[in-house]
Amino acid sequence: MLNVHGIQLNAHYTVTLPVSIGTLWAYITTREDITEHLNFTGFTVYQRTDTVLDLLDNIDKNGVPDVVMVSLYMWNRNRSNKLTKALKEKWPHVKIIVGGNDVPQHPERFKEFVNENPQYDYYVNSEGEIPLENILRKILSDKNIFVSDYLDDCFHITENGKVISKSKTKRYLNHKGELDFPSACAIGLYDDLVASLPDVELQGVLETNRGCPYSCTFCDWGLEEKMRKFSMRRIKEELDWYIGNVHEIMLSDANFGILKRDIDIAKYLIKSKILHPNPRLHSTAITYAKNNKERVVRIAELLEKFDFSRSGATFSLQSMNDPTLVAIRRDNMSIAKDFDWIAENFTTRGIPYYHEMIMGMPLETKETFLTGMSKLLEYNPLEINVYKLAWLENSEIGLDGHTEKYQLEWAKFEQGPSIHDDEKEYAFIIDSTSTISNADMQYIRNIRDMIQILWLGKSLFYIGRYLQQEYNIEACDIIENFYKYTTVDNKNEYWDTLYLSKEDAVRDSGNFKVPLWYNYGTNRYKFTRYTNAWLYLHGSIERKEYFYKEMQKFFTLYYPQVDSYLLADLIKFNKNILVDGENINLEHTFETEYSWIEYFTTKKLNKITTTYNTKIEVAGNAKIPASVGKEKFLYYVAGGHEFMFNKQNAFGYPEGSYTNKVSGDHSFISRVGTFFPDGTYFDSAEDVLKEIFSEEKEHKLENAQMRLKLSKNITTPEVI
Ligand code: SF4
Repeated sequence: MLNVHGIQLNAHYTVTLPVSIGTLWAYITTREDITEHLNFTGFTVYQRTDTVLDLLDNIDKNGVPDVVMVSLYMWNRNRSNKLTKALKEKWPHVKIIVGGNDVPQHPERFKEFVNENPQYDYYVNSEGEIPLENILRKILSDKNIFVSDYLDDCFHITENGKVISKSKTKRYLNHKGELDFPSACAIGLYDDLVASLPDVELQGVLETNRGCPYSCTFCDWGLEEKMRKFSMRRIKEELDWYIGNVHEIMLSDANFGILKRDIDIAKYLIKSKILHPNPRLHSTAITYAKNNKERVVRIAELLEKFDFSRSGATFSLQSMNDPTLVAIRRDNMSIAKDFDWIAENFTTRGIPYYHEMIMGMPLETKETFLTGMSKLLEYNPLEINVYKLAWLENSEIGLDGHTEKYQLEWAKFEQGPSIHDDEKEYAFIIDSTSTISNADMQYIRNIRDMIQILWLGKSLFYIGRYLQQEYNIEACDIIENFYKYTTVDNKNEYWDTLYLSKEDAVRDSGNFKVPLWYNYGTNRYKFTRYTNAWLYLHGSIERKEYFYKEMQKFFTLYYPQVDSYLLADLIKFNKNILVDGENINLEHTFETEYSWIEYFTTKKLNKITTTYNTKIEVAGNAKIPASVGKEKFLYYVAGGHEFMFNKQNAFGYPEGSYTNKVSGDHSFISRVGTFFPDGTYFDSAEDVLKEIFSEEKEHKLENAQMRLKLSKNITTPEVI
């Protein structure tokens, strides 16, 4: 009997179940002839110690390992290499199998990697199930424990840092039918791990299909096998388990919504959570399909209305520049073509969504990038995450002549901190290209930060939106002018501090009434730099007053075409519709001379005195009630959800009413800057409930409706 152990170290910022290795082992359990000679002793996943070497003490707690499986990603590469070197030194007989996205495929890089890592015995360069089974058969045969045939053409064998047998082919599971081997959740592989981390926000990973039909050059999935489906039986089994055991499910599908049945999966998830006696799950993180707009919007709406969505639907564009899309091979996706339809539908239905854009892509310039950003801001995204192009070990950009063709210069970036140099994790990110200099990239970064703080953080959102709609002024025009105003025209300490505050607000921490760090269970969460900046603007009445006075000066100077009386009233509206950071009033009344909520709902503006009664009972998507106390409440108001970029319901008063002599009294719900009058926001959720449960005679609809109602005020575990 051989003891087999799995090592899949988490990134520094999340605690995710070791699904790569769990899935592989679940597959191996279907091979009973070998599993009767193998004893799975568990996973090493979670590091909260100063050095990864401390994990060695626990690896043998269920038996000294004979075989170790290692999953290598860019966020755990150095630590995994160090740990496994020490492991081999401690137990020289152990055979170590390594796979994952960070095992180099390029022959030169692979040779170098093997040379630097003599501790590994077997390497897998592709999908793992079939290679792993055959490696295990070989190990058992070599040790004369169980002699069986095996294929030796789908993995590399090395000895003391030298390749002695090369992989000749990649072998994939089941090319035609559905994948239906057991789920690691259902056979209890994660039970001990979950029990050992009771206070940790756990993330599970669900794979409903595998592979991607596209081949974007910057990505390492596109080189792999085409898409295959997991069976609905297996998906339901996993969902049932996840609902009671993890806080969030991340769908690892590259394109959820690409299959018709994906709507059924979303409905099953909603139904199961409603019926679960003690659900732990509160959100999902999903990357949606690029070519199925109606289905994607429908699924995103279902999940949003039932409070499952962490930060809205992902809407990954990466670039809005046609030559760039051709160069990175994304021109075959209809997402850019359908952009207006999708964005309009997300916005008008109140479904939060966020974009991903990548700076420094081939052929992108400063101008094309900012024009693209302005286009995105014509609608109402919750967030725009702008990344720099990263060099992935096995992406096409990393493997062939793209670097030379587009003059891509890469810089080393520390992405995982450690007090030990050899345990720091690094990424290579773009520094400059043939069409964009490092200085231009830095400028875009500054504008991106200002977009985050001022537009997406809503500090000047309503003013900007009015100028967009009435004067065709682009969002980036406003932001770039504002940046000039605060760094050249009217540079002073206030703006310096604001810009510094986005770099974690450390300089101002002594004056902040809100601490920069919160403990959550055994984790510490920090405000994001954008949240810090928001707190700088809104966290004191004095600073807030100064900011909005400056707004009047700025807009008057740069946009004199706007009537100054109307502008002052609009600034007043923008200021008052946002929660006051220093003095959180759960209810807030104010008055304007124009009917601004009507304008932002119907585009009709009446000059009539309008009174608003706004209120806030819970903060952020985590639904933290005001009773938790001012500091924690503000933390969530300011978008400080335990995940990095959730601004939904944050910053602004989420509901209230307004009244004027023309329109009378109306209630409203506000989502991501869009106002929904008279409770209409939840109508579609009620319809979905009826639809989901209509076939189930035994189900009590009233019960589900009650749950839906409650879900608006459900609280997550107390922040300690
Ligand atoms: S970036 Fe997304 S769509 Fe493109 S190949 Fe990778 S996973 Fe597929």
